[in-house]
Amino acid sequence: MILILDEYFKKYPFTGDALKIITHFPTYIKQYKFLLESQWWSKEKLEEYQLIKLQKLLNHAYENVPYYYHLFKKHGIKPRDISSLKDIQKIPYLTKEIIRKNINKLRAKNYSRYKFEYITTGGSTGYPLGLYFERGNAEAKYSAFIQRMLNQSSCHLSNKHAYLINEDEIYRHHIFGKILSLSSFHLDEKNLHLYVKKLRKHKPKFIVAFPSALFQVAQFIEKNNIDCFSSLKAIFCSGETIYDWQRNKIEKTFNCRVHAFYSHNEQTVFATTCNHSNNYHISPEFGITEVIDQDGKSVTKENDVGEIVGTGFINFIFPLIRYKTQDKGVITLKKCRCGRDYPILKEIEGRMFEVMITKTNRYIPLTGFYGLIAKCSKNVIDWQLIQEREGELIIKIIKGKYFSNKDEQMIKNSLKNKFSKEIDFEIQYTNHIKLAPSGKKSFLIQKLSYNND
Ligand SMILES: [Zn+2]
Repeated sequence: MILILDEYFKKYPFTGDALKIITHFPTYIKQYKFLLESQWWSKEKLEEYQLIKLQKLLNHAYENVPYYYHLFKKHGIKPRDISSLKDIQKIPYLTKEIIRKNINKLRAKNYSRYKFEYITTGGSTGYPLGLYFERGNAEAKYSAFIQRMLNQSSCHLSNKHAYLINEDEIYRHHIFGKILSLSSFHLDEKNLHLYVKKLRKHKPKFIVAFPSALFQVAQFIEKNNIDCFSSLKAIFCSGETIYDWQRNKIEKTFNCRVHAFYSHNEQTVFATTCNHSNNYHISPEFGITEVIDQDGKSVTKENDVGEIVGTGFINFIFPLIRYKTQDKGVITLKKCRCGRDYPILKEIEGRMFEVMITKTNRYIPLTGFYGLIAKCSKNVIDWQLIQEREGELIIKIIKGKYFSNKDEQMIKNSLKNKFSKEIDFEIQYTNHIKLAPSGKKSFLIQKLSYNND
């Protein structure tokens, strides 16, 4: 998700790419104006809107997307048979595996070739997943949702801001100095000094960060009695579960509201906190969100936990219908005081939220680590991490047919570069990766218990 936002700023609309601004700015404005109104619509009106969008999406998918044409034929589904939101349950789920195997068949035929923008997402799968966005258009719409979220703290995309996310460079300025990006991978004592100095000079109005990383900055600020940054109006956390103890410390140290939002590169779900609550308000304008149990049945009662499944409305070029995110949500039926009649999740947890613990007892989220091994070597069939001691990780790898010493060296070098002296790695080769009792694979078997302070 954050990567999309980052990509957006790299390309649009401040890059001087005049054509892109002219082409896509109206899309952004139109979406943004709509969202300002729709957030106050009643549940009934929002569902009416969703049904119209769903029918449009299904007609399009049937007519233009070979994967869905064959799927609907096989299951005897006709788009016109979908006459209520519940009817979506007639359509089989879409998994990461299906996307991987059908990437070309999921492309809509009625778009010209140059409209397809290929992106990969490490996501929570452990392997890069390839997808297509409609060039410029999907980003413009997504940005309207981001801006509406920023409105809650009177922040704007054009304000100076900072990121503390998964970056290769320790820090960098981009978009004509508007954005300062700091790497969440390099949070040692020396760089924490540097980051605080950089933030002070940059004067961001808001920060977008992985909560575990910003928590460490907060700890450092507190330990060294550093004054807070007066320019800051809000912090927006994403990419990991944010725990109350993290939020409390970050809010206290930075003296501003910490919001959280949930989204992913696949662009099927978008949910944010509001000024009255730390629960996640799911944007119905972004798509249809379902929560399902292990048998694939919808769960709808208070405190029910299930997998989040999304049907996205903003990227028709590569439609994802009933996409299984592998993240989990906890349902609440309580209405929020803010007045938005949105479905609400109390908590969101996912595979992507797992953390590794370093020698100095720091938590490094697995976000960013995912895909790293697969990126280094195409000859790895499967992998799993096991942590038994702080600062030590065992990597179990199932070798592919062509795996060689060169692959091993590439993996070692890449890990060394990324994690420097924080974590020692031991590679073990195996023929079998153990699955969790649910049958799902856990990419990290964390045997250490978490220390909250
Ligand atoms: Zn609310």
